[in-house]
Amino acid sequence: MERCLDCNSTLKKGETECWACGHIVAGSQPSSKASGHFSKVINFFLYLSGAFTIASLFFDATPPFSRCLTATVVLFLVKSSMGQMLQKDDKE
Ligand SMILES: [Zn+2]
Repeated sequence: MERCLDCNSTLKKGETECWACGHIVAGSQPSSKASGHFSKVINFFLYLSGAFTIASLFFDATPPFSRCLTATVVLFLVKSSMGQMLQKDDKE
């Protein structure tokens, strides 16, 4: 027996949307849920490498500025391409 994560209503097996609140049932769209989680991880690393990029300008203990900048740019590209993928999913 599944339950809605939002309002805790009991859900029938195979139901993709909560009848009570309209919340999308976890597991019905595993791909978008996984990519949503993945984008959070990417976001975290993007902020982290962004912070390192700025910090590397002022502190010697951090990795070289060019390496931090490269990591930030790569993460930003991954994030933006993933955002486009998610938008495509929404349209379908
Ligand atoms: Zn619900």
